[in-house]
Amino acid sequence: MTETVTNWAGNITYAAKELHRPHSLDALRALVARSPAVRVLGSGHSFNRIAEPGAEGVLLSLAALPPEVDVDTAARTVRVGGGVRYAELARRVHAHGLALPNMASLPHISVAGSVATGTHGSGVGNGPLAAAVREVELVTADGSAVVIGRGDARFGAAVTSLGALGVVTALTLDLEPAFEVEQYVFTELPLDGLDPDAFETIMAAAYSVSLFTDWRTPGFRQVWLKRRTDQPLPGFPWATPATGKTHPVPGMPAVNCTEQLGVPGPWHERLPHFRAEFTPSSGAELQSEYLLPRRDAVRALHALDAIRAVVAPVLQICEVRAVAADEQWLSPAYGRDTVAVHFTWVADTRAVLPVVRRVEEALGAFEARPHWGKVFTTPAARVREWYPRLGHFRALARELDPAGTFANAFVRDVLGD
Ligand SMILES: Cc1cc2nc3c(=O)[nH]c(=O)nc-3n(C[C@H](O)[C@H](O)[C@H](O)COP(=O)(O)OP(=O)(O)OC[C@H]3O[C@@H](n4cnc5c(N)ncnc54)[C@H](O)[C@@H]3O)c2cc1C
Repeated sequence: MTETVTNWAGNITYAAKELHRPHSLDALRALVARSPAVRVLGSGHSFNRIAEPGAEGVLLSLAALPPEVDVDTAARTVRVGGGVRYAELARRVHAHGLALPNMASLPHISVAGSVATGTHGSGVGNGPLAAAVREVELVTADGSAVVIGRGDARFGAAVTSLGALGVVTALTLDLEPAFEVEQYVFTELPLDGLDPDAFETIMAAAYSVSLFTDWRTPGFRQVWLKRRTDQPLPGFPWATPATGKTHPVPGMPAVNCTEQLGVPGPWHERLPHFRAEFTPSSGAELQSEYLLPRRDAVRALHALDAIRAVVAPVLQICEVRAVAADEQWLSPAYGRDTVAVHFTWVADTRAVLPVVRRVEEALGAFEARPHWGKVFTTPAARVREWYPRLGHFRALARELDPAGTFANAFVRDVLGD
């Protein structure tokens, strides 16, 4: 490949024979039909080789396709092209007085790439972003177009697919009436004395709740509550209200973050932590995340507290969120109400990987499914045990893609092929 393509974080340079940016669906279908190995690159915000086609493969970007966003106000749905990012989607949906139910911490990511990896925000009543998807339009390995909607027996594989079934050319998502959100930040929530009931109450205190800690001292440095203005104003007796605006990563400027201090604003300018026009997070980082049953959250947090001294030196920030159980077979939130424990590490793979292993050991008792788009070292054979429908996914992948055009090394490892 003449062009060097890296992911957003810069820790991965994708191996590929060719990079293509087709301008039309017909060109895309013809390209896929004649290529033995293909992977789509979304916005490149994953931290591992999930999008890499390999030295003989085609890396396919949908960035040159028309950025379709077709809102159906009567049906309250939106059909969105496979290369479109949440920032653009949210702006267009909001202009019609409608909303997505939830967003991740940043709006910069592509919709198709996000739902492919099980990307999520927070909220005990909010599933991952994939939960809003009602229909997926795919181009499969022979170049044919396949539509899989809710109610189809294959739907459980179609959304959080790791890109293994084909090119997602469009998705149709459910919408709801637009709503406003106020964001409140609290400081210093102790971990000591927190029992599972109190943890659940805290995570349910608002529409979306995030706890942040640098693990330098016990407990949480910040709690972010995102309250819908059409829901009650929560009391939050567990921590102290922040007096100024703040960034979750120590030392980073608050201007990068969405408005706080209870100023109401549209859903898409409050549900993400980071503003579309600024660098999200810290910009120089690696990330890992583990999703485990929420009933184990407090025990898991104590297990991490016990290795604080190992974690803190390479950690920028750790975020704890709630995710409602999901129905996508390969969703890390599949079949269980979930707590997601995220780590923003320093940008130093060599220093971070041994600590990632220690975190995985500490969480070993909790079936801690790794986020598909982040750094992890848990052996695939172990991960497979935690996905009861993985065999069904593998069978469908073989049916839709018998020659393994979309099965890169990452997918083969996960599926055990
Ligand atoms: C700063 C930052 C903050 C983040 N915050 C969150 C967060 O709040 N919550 C969370 O859960 N995750 C978060 N992530 C992780 C991120 O959401 C995931 O890595 C997500 O997959 C990124 O989407 P992408 O389009 O960049 O995907 P890519 O990395 O480009 O691709 C991911 C996968 O999707 C496939 N894919 C992409 N587009 C298509 C398509 N059209 N058809 C078929 N397959 C496709 C790729 O082949 C690949 O397998 C964050 C990442 C960063 C960098």
